[in-house]
Amino acid sequence: MPNGKYVSNVKNDKQLTDLAYLVRKFQRQSQWLWRMKADGTHLPDADPVKDGGTISKNPPDGIMDQQTALVLRAWVEQGLHMVLNKFELKELHWPPDSTATIPSEGGPARLRQDAYDAWLAAARLIHQKGGFLGKTFASSPRGYKAGKLSKSKGNSAYSWHYAALGIDLDEGASSYDGTINPKRGVRFVVEEEGNMFRLWCYAEPQPPVPVDPADDKKDPHLQYRNRNIATKSSPPGRKIKNTETSEPTPLFHQCGSKAGFAKVAAPAAWYVDVSSLMEMKGMMRIARHKDWQVNPKAWEWWHYEYRPKAPPMMVPPGTLPLQLTFGDYLQLYGVHEYKLRTIADGWPDHSDIERRPG
Ligand SMILES: [Zn+2]
Repeated sequence: MPNGKYVSNVKNDKQLTDLAYLVRKFQRQSQWLWRMKADGTHLPDADPVKDGGTISKNPPDGIMDQQTALVLRAWVEQGLHMVLNKFELKELHWPPDSTATIPSEGGPARLRQDAYDAWLAAARLIHQKGGFLGKTFASSPRGYKAGKLSKSKGNSAYSWHYAALGIDLDEGASSYDGTINPKRGVRFVVEEEGNMFRLWCYAEPQPPVPVDPADDKKDPHLQYRNRNIATKSSPPGRKIKNTETSEPTPLFHQCGSKAGFAKVAAPAAWYVDVSSLMEMKGMMRIARHKDWQVNPKAWEWWHYEYRPKAPPMMVPPGTLPLQLTFGDYLQLYGVHEYKLRTIADGWPDHSDIERRPG
């Protein structure tokens, strides 16, 4: 129950004393059918008809009117508390079913249970086909204790990484000039595709080369690429043996600034389509940023995120379901917004807490 002194519509509210804000938050979160007791026990989803614990007001206005007061009383009588820790965080391993953890900031990488399930399903397929995600720097969850990261360095202060729903693959597994070096873990080919990149991984072990070129792409997720394509020729990708069948649509690696942003044909070999296997299981790519040729952080080929379903909700008729906020997502794995507001260079304003992640 809010017990702060009444201040209204302040912006910077480190001590959470803005009662109008707290009422607004209660009105909003009461529409979720998730319920938790004050002792931290999670209850089955509420029955929206019998529950009496939702406030049918969209948008929430922060006014303690009669309906809000009655619903608050129902919550107090049932010993309910705002829902914290709805999802546990699960550690990431490579190989996916091993006990070797993938590193992140300050410990093993972890994802929210539902994102973990998606990641694990994709990781198993990628591993089965000879792909590799292991030398991953996951940034999941991104530590909130350091406060907001510098926007000028390309980090969003509201990234899905904070919500334990996004991971970054290892940038070091890709070279600036298209070199593949499996012994050093350099196995990624980054292919330009629209406003994104598609990520391929050199397979290990390499299956035998197909006898019939028609079989090169029989498995869309594990393809033999660049048959009879020269890698280091100028321009790269020139077909070299006109008498033999050559790859009709060669796989090119998008090089970085040190290589003049050239596109270099990948060595003829088997490659796992990491992007399609990730997306098939719900780990989605994002677009690169427009400044990718001047800002190395803007490529985003390494970034995959899980976009969770909305919680079950009692949505007032004629209104749209309320989207979850940055603060909600951290609350759902146990970070109280008080911590976000009071951390140095953190998220003290209502607008920090109430905006969408991303
Ligand atoms: Zn990322």
